[in-house]
Amino acid sequence: NADTAMYHAKNSGGNRYQFFNESMNKEAVHRLQVESLIRHGLREDSFSVFYQPKISISTGKVAGMEALVRFETPAKGIISPAVFIPMSEETGQIIDIGEIVLRKACFATKKWVDAGLFSGRVAVNLSAVQFTQPNLVSLIESILTESNLPAKYLELEITEGTVMNAPQKAIETMQQIRDLGIHLSLDDFGTGYSSLAYLKKFPLNTLKIDKAFVDDIEASEQGRNMVATIVTIAHNLDMQVVAEGVETNQQLDFLATLGCEQLQGYLYSKPLPTKN
Ligand code: C2E
Ligand code: CA
Ligand code: CA
Repeated sequence: NADTAMYHAKNSGGNRYQFFNESMNKEAVHRLQVESLIRHGLREDSFSVFYQPKISISTGKVAGMEALVRFETPAKGIISPAVFIPMSEETGQIIDIGEIVLRKACFATKKWVDAGLFSGRVAVNLSAVQFTQPNLVSLIESILTESNLPAKYLELEITEGTVMNAPQKAIETMQQIRDLGIHLSLDDFGTGYSSLAYLKKFPLNTLKIDKAFVDDIEASEQGRNMVATIVTIAHNLDMQVVAEGVETNQQLDFLATLGCEQLQGYLYSKPLPTKN
């Protein structure tokens, strides 16, 4: 119990005391359950990938897609990544999950490109834990070779938290990824601890405006100004902009007047499973 309490103290930032209580045990049991579900799921190939199109605002056509992992369990149905991704980052299982997603996304995209169905980029999310793995770049290279997918069809999405921990080292890794011909985008922009000083040094192609800002477009003048400012910053730094979580035509119209390049959201399509 003392160990569990200490774990809690560390997780809430450390440098504090924490008494044990019974709810912590329940939480610990829940984590163990999810961890063992994931272990089982990895063995049984229960992780699949859904794809959500990204639409070019000027042409209305599919310009790319984002790969989003799904975990299907026999007992509990589909578990949301919002639940198992954070836990798998703590246990390190995200390394295996992330590799599966990248491999499946590359193989599927190669098939669609060859069939003449798709010519954009598939974007795969990279967790901070994966990003700091020393073999990351060689792993990406070998998956591209295995799947025969030219690097220009791949994009990786990273978040501010991933790159702001050790920005100098992150720039090196990002540059190695770019040197392979892969695009890089900054996900959930505006929700983390971005430094504008670093933003201009990061070799990024695209900035994704978080859904929270898109939601504010219809709410207030201030909300619209915020989105306009983000688009201006991105364009001034030579980056393209993707708006996330676009659900209404009003949001689309406003984003179009700003010259935002792409949108992703339920207005056009939810993430979809592949057809085998
Ligand atoms: P994200 O990368 O920001 O992905 C966008 C999320 O917004 C997805 O949730 C997507 O389904 C949802 N979304 C898209 N358009 C709309 C919309 O119009 N309205 C609403 N309400 N939601 C929309 P999802 O698939 O549940 O994924 C949640 C998060 O889990 C992702 O957020 C990402 O951070 C993480 N994730 C998903 N797949 C992976 C993966 O393969 N690897 C890693 N490391 N993380 C992943
Ligand atoms: Ca993403
Ligand atoms: Ca996002």
